[in-house]
Amino acid sequence: MKYDYLVVGAGLFGATFANLAKSAGKKVLVIDKRPNIAGNVYTENIEGINVHKYGAHIFHTDYKDVWDYVNSFVEFNRYTNSPVARIGNEIYNMPFNMNTFSKIWNDVFTPEDALKHIEEEKKEITGEPKNLEEQAISLVGRTIYEKLIKGYTEKQWNRDCSELPSFIIKRLPVRLTYDNNYFNDKYQGVPIGGYTKLVENMLKGIEVRLNTDFFDNREDYMKMANKIIYTGAIDEYYDYSLGKLEYRSLRFDTKIYDKVNYQGNAVINYTGHEVDYTRVIEHKHFEFDTTSPKTVVTYEYPSDYKEGMEKYYTVNDDKNNKLADEYRKLSKKEENIIFGGRLAEYKYYDMDDVIKSAMDRFKGES
Ligand code: FAD
Ligand code: UDP
Repeated sequence: MKYDYLVVGAGLFGATFANLAKSAGKKVLVIDKRPNIAGNVYTENIEGINVHKYGAHIFHTDYKDVWDYVNSFVEFNRYTNSPVARIGNEIYNMPFNMNTFSKIWNDVFTPEDALKHIEEEKKEITGEPKNLEEQAISLVGRTIYEKLIKGYTEKQWNRDCSELPSFIIKRLPVRLTYDNNYFNDKYQGVPIGGYTKLVENMLKGIEVRLNTDFFDNREDYMKMANKIIYTGAIDEYYDYSLGKLEYRSLRFDTKIYDKVNYQGNAVINYTGHEVDYTRVIEHKHFEFDTTSPKTVVTYEYPSDYKEGMEKYYTVNDDKNNKLADEYRKLSKKEENIIFGGRLAEYKYYDMDDVIKSAMDRFKGES
């Protein structure tokens, strides 16, 4: 065997595993079918601005070891995500906090006032919330659900909120303070110079082949290394033999404007059906750039997944989770293959969880 490990996918799972293996003296080959490293966190410099090509990414974590690890490759800035939500001509702060509540209900001045409204509105939900709609109403009441959650979620998932699992909305904090920080984690930021630089540094000294699809030469690749780290889609690995898992895709429409400041914030969520996009990203604000003469803006349109598109989101409802479990059973029987990351584990993972999981899988190797 020429390599100890063949890593399929140069995203964060693959890059972390490859980096740890290389540091432990192993011989590693990384392949990726895309023309670039970094998977979905890839950033490209356009007009001097680091553009998040596969969707906006903000690093946030509670794991000190993960934070120290990523900071050992690149310095992070102090960016704190505070998206603004727009519905029609109204603007609200996100996540749901006292700024949001006092604008939604004009008699709210204290946390107690806000709680009174939420308690009253959530009375319609009795027992454990059974789906995203019930979960949302029991967290923030129907008024906010209808203005800031229902439309966004329907556009994002192309399903009724009553047919979606409640865990999706549990990611968002609800606070009785005037704190617009979207995340509760202790550490947060964006790599100075972009995520591509982070992954480039993780892969330093490792052989990487781009534009290389594992499935074009599967038999040969299987013979090249003692172990395969596979970070592509698990159903594809098994040739969809048990059926196809569902995914959601996205379409990004990126524009360059001759303007210093287009929207005044990195992220604006469009929570209503008056536009088809869910988010508008102005990339320069991730790095506090308020002076360069141009700006790069991306409109994010959710889309059904079709052959040839990127699989951005797994659809973790009961039906798909059951099928993924069947695939997982098959994958557990493989002795020389580690399935890791968002697509191979069919999990709605954040970046830090993906890195943590790769660290744990590598620890399991020794
Ligand atoms: P990927 O980055 O998808 O990497 C997998 C790689 O494998 C890809 O490069 C792919 O080309 C390659 N590959 C697949 N099949 C093959 C094959 N057959 N042959 C060769 N190569 C193959 N997380 C956060 O923490 N904060 C955020 O703000 C955030 N925002 C997000 C926004 C969007 C729009 C999306 C979609 C996700 C976001 N995430 C965020 C999640 C984050 O993107 C993931 O957790 C992380 O990038 C997953 O890394 P991965 O290595 O598992 O997968
Ligand atoms: N969400 C919403 N309104 C918003 C933002 C998010 O209803 O303005 C819901 C939506 O269902 C979404 C989920 O919260 O799928 C998780 O949002 P997050 O921003 O974490 O999504 P991601 O970054 O993973 O796309």
